[in-house]
Amino acid sequence: MHARLAVIVAAALLVVVPVPGSAQNPGAQEERISDPPELRRNVRRILGGVPMTAADSMRQEIVRRLDFESYKALLRGLTEFGDREQGTARNRAANDWIEERLRGWGYETERVHYTFARRVGDSPEPRDQVFGTLVGATRPDEMYIIGAHMDGRGGGEAANDDGSGTALVMEIARVLASEDIVSDRTIRFALWNNEETGLQGARAYVEQRAELQGIEDPPGSGRYPEPRWMGMIQHDMMLWDHGNPVTSQQALDADVDVEYQLVSEMADESAQLGLALINANRMHATDYPAVLSNAMSNTDSTPFMDLTPSVSLRENRRLYETGNGANPHWHQPTDLFETFSDRDFMLGFNAAQTTLGALTELAGIRLVR
Ligand SMILES: [Zn+2]
Repeated sequence: MHARLAVIVAAALLVVVPVPGSAQNPGAQEERISDPPELRRNVRRILGGVPMTAADSMRQEIVRRLDFESYKALLRGLTEFGDREQGTARNRAANDWIEERLRGWGYETERVHYTFARRVGDSPEPRDQVFGTLVGATRPDEMYIIGAHMDGRGGGEAANDDGSGTALVMEIARVLASEDIVSDRTIRFALWNNEETGLQGARAYVEQRAELQGIEDPPGSGRYPEPRWMGMIQHDMMLWDHGNPVTSQQALDADVDVEYQLVSEMADESAQLGLALINANRMHATDYPAVLSNAMSNTDSTPFMDLTPSVSLRENRRLYETGNGANPHWHQPTDLFETFSDRDFMLGFNAAQTTLGALTELAGIRLVR
């Protein structure tokens, strides 16, 4: 190629290929993380992040309201309660704190009450968990549930497991509380308790509320205490993808793992929900890609998977990676806020971009001006 022409072509390519932190992508983290260029990710080389319609642009505008510093501040706030182990005062205080935040943003909240006994023969003790709800503007009777578990274990701060998911759900709630945003369908922000002891909080929700789906109460009121479930999106351990053997930094192929469960009544529909998240990641995530796999396990979306499309987002596939030593801080005293770098927090933030991006389309979230 003629040398001068090559320069012109290269310049043209520079213009059309969006890179993180460019004008087309003002929400990117480039100013916040000083990675050398060879470590900067570019998940947008082939049409990633390029809006095709006016609706795409509006959805991007909504997703860009997610704030990295706000996400980290919410996560830090949760870690100040320690590991939030179920049945402890720090668990109860964290539940109150979560509810205060949701109410402060203008949401109505409720608590699901249930009982928990550690062993057969122990007398059951009362437990509860919080959810907040954004009521749908035109389809209040249909609902997406986004969740994470606020309890933890290990004697540290349960920062990653699962402060990272809890803060993510709360940051999405914060953005959607804005007065110029409406959602056609209802969205519920569920912060499960007792995940670590066997998913008792999420199971209690399903047991108590599955049969209430779609019932208008009182009749004619337009109010649906439990709208019909359209999907459940769980977030559980969302910071650390350092490879295995484990290295000191995020692996170069670090990604958001979207899992559904092949052996479930709603497997096909759950895979479709997963694909919606993969596509949303392509459009909205600034730094990390997402991949779909089919062995969702050991998290609060499990009790939902035979009833409604259900997926979970994770830093690693639960059975094949997390279960094989991919995160040395899992359930350890080192699961502390200070253990993680901005590049780790950014993986959780990208999962927030992925879920909110998918929800804008699935639930019909719009800007009203
Ligand atoms: Zn967990």
